[in-house]
Amino acid sequence: MRPSPPPDLADLYRSLNSVHFDGALPKCQLLWNPRLRTTAGRIDVRRRVIEISVAYHQSFGPGEVRDTLLHEMIHLDQHRRKVRVGHTPEMKRIARRLGLRKMFARDVPGRPSPRYRYQCPACSRKVLRRIRIGRNRSACAQCCNRHNGGRWHRRFVLVPVKSDRRRRT
Ligand SMILES: [Zn+2]
Ligand SMILES: [Zn+2]
Repeated sequence: MRPSPPPDLADLYRSLNSVHFDGALPKCQLLWNPRLRTTAGRIDVRRRVIEISVAYHQSFGPGEVRDTLLHEMIHLDQHRRKVRVGHTPEMKRIARRLGLRKMFARDVPGRPSPRYRYQCPACSRKVLRRIRIGRNRSACAQCCNRHNGGRWHRRFVLVPVKSDRRRRT
């Protein structure tokens, strides 16, 4: 499958602005960022700059880019209305109303840092993983070595700290 060409961000911005915000959002600088991988998109509401990840588009296509841009535009609208800019309950309501399928973006492949955090219940050492580790599988190697002769023990099975979903900022 050939990757679809990147959408024209200015066109997309104009149409989302008129459909969802009655054209109330100010002019904004829109940039494709070829290095951005930690998040799908981000906004500087004061400087009015929105950046969208090229890698995100390549991985997930124009529908996800549209959602990302709309997400950032909701932040710009929060700034315009002088309400708190963030993932507030109000923003979640607006996002649902505007048909944003989900609040948070997906991980860009090759994203530098791992997304799953685990912790050893015995020594509290933190472990980061890019993929979810199975339940009751991995145990803290240090504790197994130190306290159980290097063999796996249930007592040292890593527990998830909390889901660390990446979000659009
Ligand atoms: Zn441990
Ligand atoms: Zn956000």
